[in-house]
Amino acid sequence: KISPERPPIRQLDEAAINRIAAGEVVERPSSAVKELVENAIDAGATRIEVAIACGGKTLIRVTDDGCGIPADELPLALSRHATSKIDGSDLLNIHSFGFRGEALPSLGAVGRLTITSRSGAEAARIAVSGSRIDPVKPAALNAGTVVELRDIFYATPARLKFLRSDRAETQAVGDVVKRLAMAEPFIGFTLRDCTGGGEGRVTFRADPETGDLFGALHGRLSRILGADFAENALRLEAERNGLTLAGYAALPTYSRGSSTHQYLFVNGRPVRDKMLLGALRAAYSDFLSRDRHPAAVLFLDCDPHLVDVNVHPAKAEVRFREPGIARGLIVSGLRHALAEAGHRASTTVAT
Ligand code: ADP
Ligand code: MG
Repeated sequence: KISPERPPIRQLDEAAINRIAAGEVVERPSSAVKELVENAIDAGATRIEVAIACGGKTLIRVTDDGCGIPADELPLALSRHATSKIDGSDLLNIHSFGFRGEALPSLGAVGRLTITSRSGAEAARIAVSGSRIDPVKPAALNAGTVVELRDIFYATPARLKFLRSDRAETQAVGDVVKRLAMAEPFIGFTLRDCTGGGEGRVTFRADPETGDLFGALHGRLSRILGADFAENALRLEAERNGLTLAGYAALPTYSRGSSTHQYLFVNGRPVRDKMLLGALRAAYSDFLSRDRHPAAVLFLDCDPHLVDVNVHPAKAEVRFREPGIARGLIVSGLRHALAEAGHRASTTVAT
């Protein structure tokens, strides 16, 4: 029975749509940092600096030396579902981090957002806060892009209340930056804490690595996880049915009391996937007791058509066309490396 009081169906306005969608993309400061750093990587940056204040609650600023955004495209960058990364027809063929065109409009809906960018000879700036977009103005910038998000969730106190302590949010931002730094060893990363104003202090720094991919990855992991991990890590390289596994896995003797040293990447994208983590655990089951956790950094790569990264807006989950192959590759690749290391160790002892 329809009540006579029933209001008519109305289209939500753009600001309301952005605010609703923002809830899925931006949960906390670290999710904003993730989106902005991914944009910088997609832009071909070689150096990326992240600055935060108060755990990112009052300030998040990501500076890159990438390709920049032309002044006349700045308003488009802030409009929903506008992207330069895919042509819209092939959602199954994704090679960039971004593709939804949702991050910048969402960030503009949850905080005070300013984008300054240089493409070619001119630099320009656009600012948005809530539903108000300021017109594009000329600006001064040497190269690349600076995106600044101030006062995240200032207009939604309910969301602000759900944020954790500055310390916990700072930690989460650090985790995001480090994960992406593992995925991109040839890019330099700097994380700065500007709480209290000014230049702040550098809390994490990884210079661009050089050499071949494994060498660069080894150097980067040593920087992030420590020389101890790097010294105890076995190099992994395996392939099955068009799926490749690469990375480093630590000897069982380097196992941890928690699963904090487990990093998974699918087509270069950091993921937290239960199935893949389960495979990692299974591979070590003969070598570790139940209360110990393996340490490993695994990169799975395959044709984008064989994996759906479109499952979740924050893109932490993935869905393989044939999950059994991914699982099998991890288990057999790791077991093989561990058995070889064990064999090497026993023959060293014997001789
Ligand atoms: P997506 O990354 O999914 O395309 P975003 O909302 O994150 O969507 O960004 C919209 C567009 O703005 C991108 O497609 C890209 O063209 C441009 N852009 C965003 N950040 C940068 C950046 N740091 N450098 C160059 N271009 C950028
Ligand atoms: Mg993006």
